[in-house]
Amino acid sequence: VYPHVSKMPTINISIASPGHRYGVHIESGLFGRLPSILYRSAARRTVWLVTDSNVLRLYGRSLQHGLTVAGMDVTVVEISPGEGSKSWKTAHALHTQMLRHGVDRKSLVIALGGGVVGDVAGFVAATLLRGIDVIQVPTTLLAQVDSSTGGKVGINHPLGKNLVGAFHHPSAVYIDPELLRTLPAREFRSGLAEVIKTAAALDRRFFAHLTRIVPRLNRTNDAALAPVITRAVRLKAAVVEHDERETDFRKVLNLGHTIGHAVEAASGFQLRHGEAVAIGLAAEARIAARMGILSLRDAGHLASVLSSAGLPTRIPRSIKAAAVLRGLSVDKKSDRGTPRFVMLRRPADCLIGVAVPTAFLAEELARR
Ligand code: ADP
Ligand code: ZN
Repeated sequence: VYPHVSKMPTINISIASPGHRYGVHIESGLFGRLPSILYRSAARRTVWLVTDSNVLRLYGRSLQHGLTVAGMDVTVVEISPGEGSKSWKTAHALHTQMLRHGVDRKSLVIALGGGVVGDVAGFVAATLLRGIDVIQVPTTLLAQVDSSTGGKVGINHPLGKNLVGAFHHPSAVYIDPELLRTLPAREFRSGLAEVIKTAAALDRRFFAHLTRIVPRLNRTNDAALAPVITRAVRLKAAVVEHDERETDFRKVLNLGHTIGHAVEAASGFQLRHGEAVAIGLAAEARIAARMGILSLRDAGHLASVLSSAGLPTRIPRSIKAAAVLRGLSVDKKSDRGTPRFVMLRRPADCLIGVAVPTAFLAEELARR
């Protein structure tokens, strides 16, 4: 869609309350220019570069070096890779490190990494000194297309994922598809699940387009990836602008996530988030078809797009039905214990807040 155009688009997001506007900049090679871009906008601010140890080695050191050479005062804050870092303990350790070393209201946090880094760094930025600025530099496909935009930040609680958090929009998001070249294949596929979700929920043409190109999308093909990332971010940005606090419409982005979250938790987080979402999308579509909401053909089509992206579409037999049902009842989307679903009627046409009779859930869990 944007062949040979050196300048990729900037997507502007305006949040009405509190009034806030920020850009999501998407461009291959953007990462290398970050020191000069950031120097122009934040030369005299102290910078806290939050990243995980894998990303630090791959990209963090070079960003730190670039910012330092540009004359900025940078401190690296390193967390362990993985979901385990989305904890109170890690957030507290970051608070302590930053407070001890003179963080102030003008400090700037740069979150360089996947969804975990974005969430923890964003949460720390949201809470320290009642909120300091954060810039998101997502390095996984999932974070680029989904979690870095929209302002949701948070950590996990022993009782469930993302249960402690805030809305804290970044002051900018910088997306460089080239950073995905080093991403493990499994992480790449996991990100594709959110792209497919966004398209299925919101954009029939994009969904049809994905159906054709998904088998050809891979980490190194950033010419094909950049427009896909851009489209997904545009769609998400439009939803977030319309309903920042998820009072109604933003819930469409939870397509596949009611069962997805339950399956993810029931797997003991052995499944990647996107894998669980893929399973959730397919399972919820089968349920919607049984309930007469979605055609069998559309449900089958969604499952085949997910499969062609190398994603699972069935709840693994190793996961106990009871564990999934337990997960469903603690879901944030539940209404006093009754899980609520976003159900597809057809691509880009969703029903929100659907209660699913237990018999349909039981049937889906039994047929594996
Ligand atoms: P998600 O975005 O799905 O929440 P995580 O933040 O858990 O993902 O990151 C997944 C894994 O990928 C982590 O081990 C992280 O260190 C690693 N990672 C993140 N970005 C890259 C990258 N660009 N190249 C290689 N590995 C990366
Ligand atoms: Zn998700």
